[in-house]
Amino acid sequence: MKINVSIIGLGLIGGSLGLALKRDPELYVTGYDRSFSTLDQAFRRGIIDKIATSIDNACEDADVIVFATPVNTTVTMMQQASQWTLKDGVILTDTGSTKGPIMEAAQPLLERGITFIGGHPMAGSHKSGVTAAKEHLFENAYYVLTPDAQTDKAKVDFLCQLLKPTKGKVVVLEAEEHDRMTAIVSHFPHLVASSLVGRLSVQQEVQPFVRKLAAGGFRDLTRIASADPIMWRDITTQNRVELLKQLDGWLEEMENVRTMLTSNDPSEIYEYFAGAKQFRDELPIASQGALYMTYDLHIDIPDHPGIISDITKVLADERISLTNIRIVETRTDVFGILVISFQSADDRERAKAALAQTMDYSMQIV
Ligand code: NAD
Repeated sequence: MKINVSIIGLGLIGGSLGLALKRDPELYVTGYDRSFSTLDQAFRRGIIDKIATSIDNACEDADVIVFATPVNTTVTMMQQASQWTLKDGVILTDTGSTKGPIMEAAQPLLERGITFIGGHPMAGSHKSGVTAAKEHLFENAYYVLTPDAQTDKAKVDFLCQLLKPTKGKVVVLEAEEHDRMTAIVSHFPHLVASSLVGRLSVQQEVQPFVRKLAAGGFRDLTRIASADPIMWRDITTQNRVELLKQLDGWLEEMENVRTMLTSNDPSEIYEYFAGAKQFRDELPIASQGALYMTYDLHIDIPDHPGIISDITKVLADERISLTNIRIVETRTDVFGILVISFQSADDRERAKAALAQTMDYSMQIV
């Protein structure tokens, strides 16, 4: 007998999960989305085996239900789920980037003996929607599960096993611990990136030329500020308490920076940068973290016509897709004038090898 998995919300995450789970022939995947064109596309792309016409229809026969909807929608659904007809022994899980409020909303279900195990696959993309769904999205990424302390361990093991086709690294954490750590490495950096952009926008009013200089390092540092504002509004409101703690720590850190600048001691300033460089250089790069990763290749190209089409032709011939290509107009300490981003480290390595065979440019992975 096949295991029935229902996915509610077939955008980037739900669609990618469907594709990954369908690698296992023992799983039968039903999908529900409020958008019919999404459902239609998901079915035609083989993301799901069956279209459900309503949430009730998606849930009644499911052994596992995955909510891959925006976090605020998932909270509302958790509150409604105790009214739905559910199979005995069903496991409910989600993919939301925050865990505390969803675990809280699921409390009435837990009290009724229904299993809810929070989930967060820590992989993403700058794109959203079913068209962006990719089978390999979760490969090597951490996939966090946050069961309640009372959850049956056999159910957690079952879900870990079910998620195996994603090829993600499943880890179990407490919801609070998850929200604290994602605030540190993902949610708070997002606020900082947006605040740096905000400062630039204010200062360019008196210094209009400054925006033209905001290339290279500034663009790299603030790339995440271009993400979907609705998703980040919801994450911020849901993880507000942890974010306020991070803000206090950051203000303290900035006070230390102020003291350092006032004292203007070159060796102290050197130590500050050297310490940060050493720590950052030692961060793991082989696996994806909570921050959405791009795999950039910096290429030092001469400035002559046709050079970019020559490079993209080599990549097209090798059937390597790229997610972004840009020319760094103002160099600060950035190596290379052309920056190409890839979906995976593997694509980047293949691109580097193909370009090295045909062209004689210096290339660097940053
Ligand atoms: P998405 O916008 O690509 O997809 C969301 C899907 O949910 C859409 O197809 C939409 O039509 C559907 N939907 C919305 N409301 C619905 C409703 N009431 N009923 C049925 N379907 C509904 O978003 P996504 O990036 O796939 O994110 C989904 C979840 O995964 C979010 O909770 C997000 O926090 C989390 N997540 C996102 C990322 C990322 O980088 N995008 C990474 C990890 C986790």
